[in-house]
Amino acid sequence: MTQTIPGLMTSAPLLVSSLIDHAARHHRNGEIVSRLGDGSLHRYRYPDCRRRAMRLASALELAGVQQGTRIATIAWNGFRHLELYFGVGGMGSVCHTINPRLHPDQIAYIIRDAADQMVFFDVEFTGLIAQIAPLCPEVRNWVALCGTHEMPAQSMPSLESYEALLATGSEDYEWPVFDESAACGLCYTSGTTGQPKGVLYANRSTVLHAYAASLPNAMNLASHSVVLPVVPMFHVNAWGIPYAAPLNGAKLVLPGRMLDGASLYNLIEAEGVTFAAGVPTIWLSLLEHVEQNSAKFASLQEAAIGGSACPASMVDRFHALGVDVVHGWGMTETSPLGCLSRLNPRRTDLPLEERRRILQKQGHALFGIDMKIVNGNGTELPWDGSSFGDLMVRGPWVLERYYGADHPVGEDGWFATGDVATIDSNGAMQIMDRTKDIIKSGGEWISSIDVESIAMAHPDLLEAACIAAEHPKWGERPLLIAVARPGASVSENDVLHFFEGKAAKWWIPDKVIFSESLPHNATGKVQKRELRERYAGQLS
Ligand code: ADP
Repeated sequence: MTQTIPGLMTSAPLLVSSLIDHAARHHRNGEIVSRLGDGSLHRYRYPDCRRRAMRLASALELAGVQQGTRIATIAWNGFRHLELYFGVGGMGSVCHTINPRLHPDQIAYIIRDAADQMVFFDVEFTGLIAQIAPLCPEVRNWVALCGTHEMPAQSMPSLESYEALLATGSEDYEWPVFDESAACGLCYTSGTTGQPKGVLYANRSTVLHAYAASLPNAMNLASHSVVLPVVPMFHVNAWGIPYAAPLNGAKLVLPGRMLDGASLYNLIEAEGVTFAAGVPTIWLSLLEHVEQNSAKFASLQEAAIGGSACPASMVDRFHALGVDVVHGWGMTETSPLGCLSRLNPRRTDLPLEERRRILQKQGHALFGIDMKIVNGNGTELPWDGSSFGDLMVRGPWVLERYYGADHPVGEDGWFATGDVATIDSNGAMQIMDRTKDIIKSGGEWISSIDVESIAMAHPDLLEAACIAAEHPKWGERPLLIAVARPGASVSENDVLHFFEGKAAKWWIPDKVIFSESLPHNATGKVQKRELRERYAGQLS
């Protein structure tokens, strides 16, 4: 019998507190810039953030918060939110980020389900808090993320200001050292089907994810990077950027609530942002602003796009502005980064067609993530770029079981993502669709993502969504809901002709319906279920 021998290296646990410690000690000049509610900018450096996070942890301890206690946040991306990430996670408690765009009843449900003891919120959400507070009697304290002189007028029991709470703490606090498997963060899925479910992140999974997110094949972060997470800190940890930026000592730019094209553009230019991350809808409004004003990006090198598929036209539009697209795939359940596609090194010489082909895929799995595609019987399918099946993933930052659940979600750590994908012979994955969005026409499947990607390239269309409409002969047929660019006169026929030569004939939608806008969910994704409810009968 052979026997391994133990390695003789120290085994310090991987804790989120070590990320802010590292930045404060080794990247003392690393800046954190936050846009506040009134549009002004707040600046400080990693050591300041760390000091205040420790003061917060100490104040929470004095207030009776124990390790493992869930502390909720309802806030935009800003420095106080960042302090909560590290202060709460660092002391061994759980920072539970909540999406303010969810329905108030759903927010109350989430707070009760998580048994949150305290809720920290941005002042502008005071009205929302007044609505949910009576539904959450177990919450002991409501803390407004502001100074004592900025407190909301609303009177509520157990309401205090963040700065007043912080003043009760001490900077001499020392982070506790505990097992790296301890939880540090909690995020609920959007609950598009059924009630939202909690995903409980561990210190270990969060630190490993931050390492992987920083890699050249992922976000390619370094101490000279200037990183703008437009993706919210209230959903899936802003793709891990609040952890990955201090790991690298990168400058962090937190945009607050002003996420329109003009505000984002001005912030990117003023702060010299090199890397920004967001969902496609955010980039649509930024691109509109830049193109309409014939503006240019002075510093921006890369735009990471994820959460929904990146349309081919977006790759072209960013390229025309000298910005490379990084296309990522992930889920709340995967912390979220699973796969990324990028042109490495920057390939400005690559023909457009080739660029689009690479970047329309969601790309290669990060080290740590394994993936496979399976058919209905669970049999693994070949990686040939054309066989498609249910995408399964596993790895140290993939969920094992939902918060409060008795059973793991899958066997041997495999998690069924609910996405249908192909994987090519080189290991690049491409999402065809969410299982519930794919269009089943006469026994063949049509990817709504591919149809949308073509439609979005039409110069007169601002946005488009493709859904399955019931059809008497084919079962389902594609229907396109399109939003025309303001002032454009575009007809259904123009759009349908645009598909010719770009897609198989039977993929071309049967009908185009023009709409003023598309419904988006709390994370900025088009709500296809709502569109199906409204339009599914249009062809029958
Ligand atoms: P929820 O909407 O349930 O909160 P997440 O925010 O976790 O879900 O989103 C996960 C889903 O978003 C994935 O399963 C996938 O369907 C979709 N998604 C994420 N990134 C991409 C991408 N780059 N391309 C296509 N779909 C994506």
